[in-house]
Amino acid sequence: MEKAGEKYVYDFSEGHKDLKQLLGGKGANLAEMTRMGLPVPAGFTVTTSACQAYLATGSNPPGLAAEIDEHLAALESAMGRRLGDASDPLLVSVRSGAAFSMPGMMETVLNVGLNDESVVGLAAQAGGNERFAWDSYRRLIQMFGKTVCDVPGDEFSNALDEAKAARGATDDLHLEAADLQALTDRYKRIFAKHTGHEFPQDPREQMRLAMEAVFRSWNAERAVLYRRQERIPADLGTAVNVVAMVFGNLGPDSGTGVAFTRDPASGAQGIYGDYLQNAQGEDVVAGIRNTIPLDDLRTLDRRSYDELLEIMATLEGHYRDLCDIEFTIERGKLWMLQTRVGKRTAGAAFRIAAQLVNEGMIDLDEALRRVSGAQLAQLMFPRFDLAEEPVALTKGIGASPGAAVGRAVFSAERAVELAAAGEQVILVRRETNPEDLAGMIAAQGILTARGGKTSHAAVVARGMGRTCVCGADQVEIAADRFTTGGRTINEGDVISVDGTTGCVYLGAVPVRPSEVVQYFEGEQTDSVLVDAVHKLMSHADTTRALAVRTNADTAADAARARRFGAEGIGLCRTEHMFLGDRRELVERLILAATPTERADALAALLPLQRADFVDLFRAMDGLPVTVRLIDPPLHEFLPSLEELAVNVAVARERGEDHAEDAQLLDAVRRMHEQNPMLGLRGVRLGLVIPGLFAMQVRAITEAAVQLAREGLDPHPEIMVPLVGAVQELETVRRECEQIVTEVVADSGVHVLIGTMIEVPRAALTAGQIAEAADFFSFGTNDLTQMGWGFSRDDVEGAFFWRYLELGIFGISPFESIDRDGVGRLIRIATEEGRAVRPGLKLGVCGEHGGDPESVHFFHEVGLDYVSCSPFRVPVARLEAGRAAITAGESDSR
Ligand code: ADP
Ligand code: MG
Ligand code: MG
Repeated sequence: MEKAGEKYVYDFSEGHKDLKQLLGGKGANLAEMTRMGLPVPAGFTVTTSACQAYLATGSNPPGLAAEIDEHLAALESAMGRRLGDASDPLLVSVRSGAAFSMPGMMETVLNVGLNDESVVGLAAQAGGNERFAWDSYRRLIQMFGKTVCDVPGDEFSNALDEAKAARGATDDLHLEAADLQALTDRYKRIFAKHTGHEFPQDPREQMRLAMEAVFRSWNAERAVLYRRQERIPADLGTAVNVVAMVFGNLGPDSGTGVAFTRDPASGAQGIYGDYLQNAQGEDVVAGIRNTIPLDDLRTLDRRSYDELLEIMATLEGHYRDLCDIEFTIERGKLWMLQTRVGKRTAGAAFRIAAQLVNEGMIDLDEALRRVSGAQLAQLMFPRFDLAEEPVALTKGIGASPGAAVGRAVFSAERAVELAAAGEQVILVRRETNPEDLAGMIAAQGILTARGGKTSHAAVVARGMGRTCVCGADQVEIAADRFTTGGRTINEGDVISVDGTTGCVYLGAVPVRPSEVVQYFEGEQTDSVLVDAVHKLMSHADTTRALAVRTNADTAADAARARRFGAEGIGLCRTEHMFLGDRRELVERLILAATPTERADALAALLPLQRADFVDLFRAMDGLPVTVRLIDPPLHEFLPSLEELAVNVAVARERGEDHAEDAQLLDAVRRMHEQNPMLGLRGVRLGLVIPGLFAMQVRAITEAAVQLAREGLDPHPEIMVPLVGAVQELETVRRECEQIVTEVVADSGVHVLIGTMIEVPRAALTAGQIAEAADFFSFGTNDLTQMGWGFSRDDVEGAFFWRYLELGIFGISPFESIDRDGVGRLIRIATEEGRAVRPGLKLGVCGEHGGDPESVHFFHEVGLDYVSCSPFRVPVARLEAGRAAITAGESDSR
């Protein structure tokens, strides 16, 4: 809301580039260029807070009109022309410009100030160039009609096409003054027909209406949707820029263009851009006429070209980054109309950052700020090789990265059927819902016509690592085919889906492995991108405070993670050590009627598990390995209740011997639980089944001792899951310590004993638990489930889309740590644990350990390490480095 005496209007000479929140990106950078002495047409910016006030009250805040009058008068006197003057009019553009560029926002209206009288004055001003004057006037009515008054744009472009057809002309340039004057009349009639009133002749009225339309476009449907997707706050508002017009449509010595200081795709330095002679603004990007490469401007207008190059170099030096630029040349005079730090691909972000370091423009810290873990993750996916120029079918929103190829199917059932038959499939749906889940699991990729990055399809696909493109709204989907751009894709036709770019192609596009992954794997690669990644990763490694470990259960995973830079294992699950051909032993263990039977089963399991640990510790030699004692509900290791019941019933019917199965069935029934995840699992299991934890601890310690005797350097850490009370941990710890002391003897092996913090009660009693723990590892998956009281498998596909839509959370709390709730539990446990035991080692082993935003949080809290899946290790290393640099900066995320 407005504050008393707040200033709403800033002249370009008053602002600067750091005022983006107030002046919007465009306004702040126009002001910056003005301050730098670059040729920017005079103008002023109406602030985002004026927009906020307008949107809150429905009318302009008091004082705004007077301020605009004042700045307009200054503009008029600077230009020596008056808005609406019949003989020598000043024209302006009215341009939207928020702090973030946003699709769906109102576009620009050029040539504001023209009317039936001043159009004549404009022609005179341009040395009798009537064609130019009428061209400008008809453009005003067209843009104003379309963007301010919602007149369908087609009506204008159809009228233009008819005028060209009547002349036998292919290009607007072949229309003459009289044609354009007639077209202007036609446009006015179209305007009146749709709006019910004449095109406004009062220039101040034109300006006011255009400005208010810009304000209102902040809440246009597409803009709202985009903000929600990109998590941009809804209350920022947009600024409005009023800029004196310069004219690129005055003849062949005029024109308009766009340029980049570097190739935004590759990051290579050079002159990239397009130019259009005798044209105004949006013609370049609208693709109405063929542009020429910027390089050709050199021969057309050497002086402007040289000046432009000089300005581009100045801007790069000033912003110390790739800039993109919009410019216009009016009769050989160059004008700068916009600049900003340009958008770029993930690969270019790394290359540009590294290049700027090499050129001495920025230091390594700054380079690290300019790349992100999300970009690195993108570079680690295989990519489509587009060299053969595949047929592009459509483009949607890249919702979950990856390159998926498969046959199009239109129902979850068909996806499951074809996948079962060994086919790769892409599930194509208008939108997905929980009933599609099986099909989504079976598919290589998912394509939807509706919904954005927070739709059901997007959330679920990201959760399970499936490639997904959603919101491809040109796609029309029927029961067994889809059509787009005049093509029909039938069930079974092969398509290729790029979850990074959102592009969908016909046929099987070849997939290339990621060179960045090849680099992490230690393969020799000769590439500029890899050099850049190497440079920034090395810097992140020297900067970060957080260590990065991996979650790995096998020696092979451990070895790969180590190549990716893991500094130990933060979570080794032992579940798999009880499965496969060992299942039978586990059954015997559970069903043991006597202590001897139980001891026999455990004794048989011991050497098998010890061998597993030997492999694992060998792969992680010299680094810590945290082994979690068995965690899941016991019935997961038993045969299915239904199956057994059927077997027993059938055998009984046939009079066959079923004593063993019946006994097993009894046991399985006894152990059946309503809510297994909240049942007999984790430490509870260890306390109930005598000898189970002891066997694991013995296997771990014996493995470590064996390796130490071989001369290796194992660092085992034993982790007790699901502890909620210190008494649980104390009981287990006493048992463990006895075995450890006995086995270790004089081997020199040192074994830590700690616990997971994943039950809210554990976090809240961390001070007590720390008395019995050498380390804590936050199990953020369970902590999130138990903190919110929902099970991930059940809820993510069921209602998260609705919660995201309602803004209850901005992102799934399983994707990124919920700072306020779950994060607070982590803070409490950290503070209270360390207060009791200052050297307490703290880590995270939930999936959040590899999520960029969460890594920043864990750095802030002061944990010692994060642990994540092998593939996320490089992402965590990079983000941990960035977190160390950006901690405390407001725009760190
Ligand atoms: P967008 O945000 O879509 O880039 P702009 O406000 O930058 O919209 O306007 C689009 C184009 O209109 C500019 O690139 C420029 O070519 C033209 N334009 C805007 N203002 C002026 C002006 N004052 N004089 C001449 N051309 C202008
Ligand atoms: Mg622009
Ligand atoms: Mg857990």
